[in-house]
Amino acid sequence: MLIDTHTHLYLEDFKDDIGIVIQNALQNDIQKMLLPNIDMDSVEPMLNLHQQFKDCTYIMTGLHPTSVDKAWRTTLNNILTTIEKQAKPIAVGEAGIDLYWDKTFVEEQKEAFIFQIEYAINNNLPIVIHSRNSLDLIIEMIKPYQGKLRGVFHCFPGHVQQAIQLVDQGFYLGLGGVVTYKNAKMAEVAAQLPLESIILETDAPFLSPQGKRGQRNESANIKDIALFIAEKRNTDFETICKVTTANAYKLFDL
Ligand SMILES: [Zn+2]
Repeated sequence: MLIDTHTHLYLEDFKDDIGIVIQNALQNDIQKMLLPNIDMDSVEPMLNLHQQFKDCTYIMTGLHPTSVDKAWRTTLNNILTTIEKQAKPIAVGEAGIDLYWDKTFVEEQKEAFIFQIEYAINNNLPIVIHSRNSLDLIIEMIKPYQGKLRGVFHCFPGHVQQAIQLVDQGFYLGLGGVVTYKNAKMAEVAAQLPLESIILETDAPFLSPQGKRGQRNESANIKDIALFIAEKRNTDFETICKVTTANAYKLFDL
């Protein structure tokens, strides 16, 4: 059994065939799909999807850094209260800092991230961290919360040294399609870090694994990622399934 710990199956990309997409995941033994929120617009489709597939989907609550602007406080409050009323989130996310697309609201991004870190701690939830061109900044920002904050660096963008540092602090690394690209840095992380710190994710519909690039990504592709990591680590597919699934159970308290 495998778990897709990060998948946006509620997006428009899946509106015509979501039943088939979920069926396909279940048939490939991807038994659970975790849905990170993005912004206010994604709340309703996410909750609807969860309503429709209650046994295999789980929801998160939070505001994505690329959706942060001057009004972030109001937006985030709306998101948190709307979700809280209808379902129980298993994590805060995705939250973080993204300096790749736009730096206009960098101060607001930091404020919104800190707010969500404290919300996660106060509600005893893990946090799902999105980091793009900002890993060192985020490592610095989470330092004061060491020992209190737990979570995962989704689509981990760093090198082995940074990975070790985060794993030592109890964080998990979310690995997805990017590890299968011709990128020595990521393959090294996938091969060298303790398996006990790794969870698997697709980030569907984005970041399809090698061989399927350019196509819409979906949760069934978790299998490709597990196979790739098994090969890199010279271990068998079953071990990757068993350990990463146990890790996800533990982190998200499934
Ligand atoms: Zn995502």
